[in-house]
Amino acid sequence: MAKLSVVIPAYNEEKMIPKTAKVVSSLLAAEGIPYEIVFVNDGSKDGSWQQIEEAARQYPGIVGVQFSRNFGKEAAILAGLANATGDCCAVMDCDLQHPPEILVEMYRLWEDGYEIVEGVKRTRGKESALHRASAGMFYKIMTKTVKIDMSRASDFKLMDRAAVDALLAMPERNTFFRALSSWIGYRTTSVEFDVREREEGESKWSTWSLIKYAVRNIIGFSTAPLQMVTVAGILVFLLAVVLGIQSLYKYFCGHAVEGFTTVILLILIIGSIIMISLGIIGCYIAKIYEEVKGRPRYLISKKINSKEDEKGMPR
Ligand code: UDP
Ligand code: MG
Repeated sequence: MAKLSVVIPAYNEEKMIPKTAKVVSSLLAAEGIPYEIVFVNDGSKDGSWQQIEEAARQYPGIVGVQFSRNFGKEAAILAGLANATGDCCAVMDCDLQHPPEILVEMYRLWEDGYEIVEGVKRTRGKESALHRASAGMFYKIMTKTVKIDMSRASDFKLMDRAAVDALLAMPERNTFFRALSSWIGYRTTSVEFDVREREEGESKWSTWSLIKYAVRNIIGFSTAPLQMVTVAGILVFLLAVVLGIQSLYKYFCGHAVEGFTTVILLILIIGSIIMISLGIIGCYIAKIYEEVKGRPRYLISKKINSKEDEKGMPR
């Protein structure tokens, strides 16, 4: 039977790792699905790594990957996929907000021949109003720019080996897993799930980190903001033509001294549009700079395996 790899990024999840390892491994064992669980410790500051080692001692089929520092969830997902050996790989959160039972449903759909099974949020679970509003706005913008409906998308999905390899072969440093998995295509279906409440610990996302995440992903996925600069330029040019004609008309009529307010307004408007435009261009240059440097997406400092038990493999 075909093996399922479950990739679980974990950042400061010492309380959740034992639970997640237990729930997922007993569920998959009961269903008779051959599995491995790849925990990626994303530079946690708590005892997450000790918990992963403990889980590897207790249960078979646990792989632990230790980052040298916190590289973020995207990098952790990619590292997990790169270290997974299954015929299909699922990605889920460590906090059990993605119901593990859905894994079985996804696996069965994969057996039916689907290459990508997307987990789609039916409900978003408990969140603060501010978080919900900012997430809502982010997804609206993303849906527009990426042209893929992202409003209910999540990182919870299962991918066939072929799709995983295609994803890993992408050369870019700044990845956005949620959107890339639709971008690569393949035979896709989706499964709805209800986001559960987090049992232990707290969400790692602040509003500020969500804003940074949004900006990064919009820039990583779309050049629309650059085109907006051109559009703004054209609009200001049209305004300039109208005002130019009006000024000339006034000059020839002999009351040219008026219109000081117009001058101030124009300086303010054009000045701010130029600065915003430079900022947008700057964001893209920064991304190009990051990509050109070609640094690795993450660094692995240690890797363990249920069988090898605590054998550090520095890379
Ligand atoms: N996570 C990670 N690196 C980070 C932040 C989060 O690997 O820098 C993991 C975290 O351990 C969890 C998942 O990403 O497994 C989702 O994080 P969280 O539950 O905080 O996000 P939310 O559910 O609030 O979107
Ligand atoms: Mg969560």
